[in-house]
Amino acid sequence: MSIYFDNNSTTNPCEKALEAMNFCLREVYGNPSSVHAPGNFAREKLSQLRREIAASINAKENEIIFVASGSEANNLCIKGFCYSANTENKKHIITTAIEHPSVLKTFEELEAEGFEATYLPVDENGFVQSTTLMNAIRDDTLLVSISHSNNEIGTIQNIKELRAMIPHIVFHTDAVQSFKKAPFDASDNRVDLASFSGHKIHAPKGIGFIFKRDGINIKSIISGGSQEFGLRAGTENIASIAALAAAINDINEQDIARIKSLQRKLLNNLLELEGVKINGPENLDFRNCTNVSVSFAGHEAEAIVNYMNDKGIYVSTRSACSSNSKQVSHVLKAINLGPQYIHGTVRIGLSKYSTEDEVNAFLGCLQEYMTKNKPYLINPI
Ligand SMILES: *Cc1c(COP(=O)(O)O)cnc(C)c1O
Repeated sequence: MSIYFDNNSTTNPCEKALEAMNFCLREVYGNPSSVHAPGNFAREKLSQLRREIAASINAKENEIIFVASGSEANNLCIKGFCYSANTENKKHIITTAIEHPSVLKTFEELEAEGFEATYLPVDENGFVQSTTLMNAIRDDTLLVSISHSNNEIGTIQNIKELRAMIPHIVFHTDAVQSFKKAPFDASDNRVDLASFSGHKIHAPKGIGFIFKRDGINIKSIISGGSQEFGLRAGTENIASIAALAAAINDINEQDIARIKSLQRKLLNNLLELEGVKINGPENLDFRNCTNVSVSFAGHEAEAIVNYMNDKGIYVSTRSACSSNSKQVSHVLKAINLGPQYIHGTVRIGLSKYSTEDEVNAFLGCLQEYMTKNKPYLINPI
């Protein structure tokens, strides 16, 4: 048995993505900057893929810049904007306490370079309250960066509403985790900058892109050739871009509806167990459909994950980027998760390939674990 329930850290590439990639590696090997036939062919292919991917978020072709990962996308949006802006009188940047490390570390680096950062607190479900944001805004605020969906607890922020409150300030969102799972429409939510990655939606690792609204200036953070409108040097990875476009087209509304029903089933069944807390919103309209974050009072998440691993069920203890550090998750700290829960938090990541049988097998295995292992600590009253 093999049940892969860690789709918030990465997904398996879909067949369509593999086919598109294989085709391009064989047939579209020309350099898009070359002026001979193979170069022209590659350039046309690249531009067609860019149009397709732009259309998927209702953006224009020249608003899409390909990069190698979601992490790079966050770096390019945030550093690229801060380095290009006139910062003489504007040095204040705002993000939240629950961002991905590629945002948080970028902010810390900018602080070391003289920017002033505010890390907004979130409520117990991971939401940024609009008043919290408004109170943090200063005359010298340059940029606000708030992720669309959190990667540990699944909270989907109301980006459109938050953005609308501060129309005069450049707004970035890390949309890596919510891409294709929650609606993202660049002309509707009006963000200026957004980050995306392929491998969370069944494209291969190593491909991502940013949305940069027309008229917003950023500075390249990789020096070299003039690829990607001069904003990201390096010969274009057309095979991975083709795989990304294929993966985007290969997820439809029925897939999302099916994932949501599995998520509902998982949440309902987990809530029936004793000593269980669901992290992030229980209202599925505000929760990424692939995410279930659950804490078991008095249990060690690592022991649960290892037990399941031995049975061929793969879940994770929180986020992949932090799972091998012993530190308590900054996200769980920010939502004030009680001490009896904090070490017993498991993240289940669904995908369009997840099935009801797999959910049942997971729940069965969890029951089995709970029968064999009693909690080490009873909630003191
Ligand atoms: C995975 C993830 C990233 C990083 O994407 P990579 O392509 O792995 O660099 C950034 N932000 C969020 C919210 C993510 O879940």
